[in-house]
Amino acid sequence: MQENKSNANSSVNLGPNQLLINGNWEQGCGGEVIAVECPANKKIICSVPRGNSEDVDKAVNAAESAFSSWSRMPASDRGRFLLRIADAIESRAEELARLVAHETGNAIRTQSRPEAYGCAAIFRYFGGLSNELKGTTYPAPDDVLCYTKREPLGVVAAIVPWNAPVSLASAKIAPALCAGNTVVLKPAEDAPLGVLWLASICSQFLPPGVLNVVTGIGPECGSALVNHPKVRKVSFTGSTAVGKGIIRAAAEGVTPFSLELGGKSPTIVFEDSDNSKVVEGVALAMRFTRQSQSCTAGSRLFLHEKIFDSFLEKLTTYVNSLVIGDPLEELTDTGTIINKKQFNRVCEYIKEGKETPNVDLITGGLPPTTGSLSQGYFLQPTVFSCNSNDWKLAREEIFGPVLMAIPWRDEDDVIRMANDTHFGLAGFVFSKDTGRAIRIAHQLDAGWVQVNQGKGQSIGQPYGGFKQSGIGKEFSLDSMIDSYTRLKSVTVNLGS
Ligand code: NAD
Repeated sequence: MQENKSNANSSVNLGPNQLLINGNWEQGCGGEVIAVECPANKKIICSVPRGNSEDVDKAVNAAESAFSSWSRMPASDRGRFLLRIADAIESRAEELARLVAHETGNAIRTQSRPEAYGCAAIFRYFGGLSNELKGTTYPAPDDVLCYTKREPLGVVAAIVPWNAPVSLASAKIAPALCAGNTVVLKPAEDAPLGVLWLASICSQFLPPGVLNVVTGIGPECGSALVNHPKVRKVSFTGSTAVGKGIIRAAAEGVTPFSLELGGKSPTIVFEDSDNSKVVEGVALAMRFTRQSQSCTAGSRLFLHEKIFDSFLEKLTTYVNSLVIGDPLEELTDTGTIINKKQFNRVCEYIKEGKETPNVDLITGGLPPTTGSLSQGYFLQPTVFSCNSNDWKLAREEIFGPVLMAIPWRDEDDVIRMANDTHFGLAGFVFSKDTGRAIRIAHQLDAGWVQVNQGKGQSIGQPYGGFKQSGIGKEFSLDSMIDSYTRLKSVTVNLGS
């Protein structure tokens, strides 16, 4: 582990730390607040309102009032709003990058800057799609016209987690607005500031009420939003456990929902791929430079037995070269875990791994208790090896930098192990034999499989999980149409 001790102290613009309701910045009806902590030094940055059901009600009513004129506006005009927002985000992306690094602990160079620019790209992509919300005509007798049209749903409740807060918020706001819906968004308790900053850019362009943001506690504010009778769609990204509650709440009002949930994704490496490029791809797939706080992390590493030891040796050298430290420092590769609860949770997994027979610690381990890294929630990349896919660390989503390496010999067996999980979000296959790698990719029970790379989502390609990793897709034209519109059929008698 390399440690980056310097402490970047330059200023961070905290943006508006209030609720955005009907174009106004508000303190919240209850007057209570939630403190936002900087995970790199455990100091309180500021606080945001603890929005309650009254705030949610105001926000949903504002969104409902704005819906009529927003949804009737020509789609290309809505697209132009999004394009202006994209330009404005891009022109100030560095500010957003610093803020997100400050509140989440994600390193600015490797994570929060690409995320900030990615937000502009998401708004630009969907802004250009507004004229694609098309219907179809159907064969009919000469005196009948049968066609379908796409309509927006109404008020969308969007709920996002903290791990990539502004990117995930953009991936909901931009398509929902493009399709003519209005939005009430609830950011995560631990990372509301970047989302509020993003909302402040949006609100400079959008009519009041089209986008509203209510900060608050999940079971209180989030639950009030999901259960609000005027909400016409719930779009949720977060844990599978909370996602199941969202399904139950949506059932009550027969409200459409889409869910992007957790994962425990497999990375399969063949015996022909024992080289440094694949090592980097595997580390990228594991999202070590995001402290592996990523739903798509390839956290179960299936290495062919012939290269098991040599590959792990190279991987150890590589992960130990990553610089851990101040998220705002350019040299830093890897920042911090989001909060104390998550930090303690990951440490418990590491402790258990160290105490379990037949499980070997290859590199990493528990975090330092002295020195500059002990001042924040820093954890080092940790790799365990084990002979089985059945053990707890190989099955549960840890959401931290703990990778489980498992050897395999037989192709059918590795596919069986890879698919032996209730999750089905992502998968990675590395082999020089591309045909073989693609064949394996097709057999993986996962919504998104990458071959010979471990990169992030591509805007425009549908993204979403199978099994308990979610329902529905994001990031693409088809997912915008599926998630944020309804299909109306119209039959017209043309007879005289
Ligand atoms: P979480 O489920 O605890 O919280 C997510 C959001 O839901 C937060 O805004 C939270 O306040 C809110 N929430 C919590 N309880 C709620 C309730 N009862 N009603 C309504 N809203 C409620 O998840 P987290 O810890 O913030 O994020 C980590 C999880 O998110 C991981 O499981 C990760 O895999 C998942 N995730 C999935 C994707 C994906 O695209 N599939 C992307 C990022 C994160």
